[in-house]
Amino acid sequence: MIDGKKIALVLAESLKKEFSLLYDSCGVKAKMAVFCFNDDSASDIYIKAQSKLAGYLGVEYQLFKLNQEFDLSGLKQKFSDLNSDSDIDGVVVMQPLADSFDFRSLLLDMDPAKDIEGIHPINLGNLISSELTSISPTAAAVMNILNSCVDDYVGSEVVIIGHSHIVGKPLAMLLADKLTTVTLCNIGTSKVNRLEEHVRRADILVVAVGKPELVKGEWIKEGAIVVDVGINKVGSNIVGDVEFEEAKKRASYITPVPAGVGPITTVMLMKNLLLAFKKKHNTRV
Ligand code: NAP
Repeated sequence: MIDGKKIALVLAESLKKEFSLLYDSCGVKAKMAVFCFNDDSASDIYIKAQSKLAGYLGVEYQLFKLNQEFDLSGLKQKFSDLNSDSDIDGVVVMQPLADSFDFRSLLLDMDPAKDIEGIHPINLGNLISSELTSISPTAAAVMNILNSCVDDYVGSEVVIIGHSHIVGKPLAMLLADKLTTVTLCNIGTSKVNRLEEHVRRADILVVAVGKPELVKGEWIKEGAIVVDVGINKVGSNIVGDVEFEEAKKRASYITPVPAGVGPITTVMLMKNLLLAFKKKHNTRV
């Protein structure tokens, strides 16, 4: 079983050292601004984890909450102010958005250099041309896990379920660059009842859907590596998208939910902030 918390702790410790060296050389702390649009409990969990990690790393963390501080028109202005504020190194926009708000137009207003979530079209375009600028922290977290347990990617059958722009799509690009054969499944795959057949041949399976135990344990190929990105609240429990207990009997490596991909994702967000900060200060420290 892959211990995401343990991996995250090690990564965070090394990031802390890097942030501290940068502070010594530049005399300023890295600063990030986070926009949160509603009282979504999943966002709250993520925000708590981010601000805790920011405190540990010595990063300045500013949270702006819609409803409390801005209406939608005021938000766009604030967003543009922060974009041009040279003290801000990274911007995060938590989703889901208020229904009436056009996320894409906000995204296009964002300075790609401050896009530490790797969702600006320029950063996604760079990813397609194998120019790695800012990569989605979730996709980077999955790659980090896979790199720790895959000996040789070449020719592996990779099956990714879920094709969102923050997980499945960037991950498909990153894994194709490793010379794997990537199958990207989505709702259409389920509609024609072909999910099981794809899962059954996966050497590496990544599931990022948001449906509790969508993938049955008995579908997992013997020895497969299983990374479960999904986070679902079922009663008072948090479960993933994979039927864990059954899947773990077959997988060679598997991530649990919680304490799998999640903690590493937050560290990868901060790594993107570090890179943005370094670039701005033009330092190799
Ligand atoms: P999303 O934008 O809603 O995307 C979900 C994807 O799943 C879509 O591509 C959708 O396909 C596909 N899908 C839905 N039902 C399906 C089905 N029955 N069979 C196959 N594919 C199906 O969600 P997301 O933001 O990528 O997040 C996915 C999950 O990961 C959520 O549980 C989220 O909380 C979690 N997450 C975890 C982390 C972490 O760090 N652990 C980070 C981000 C997200 P269509 O678009 O075709 O409908």
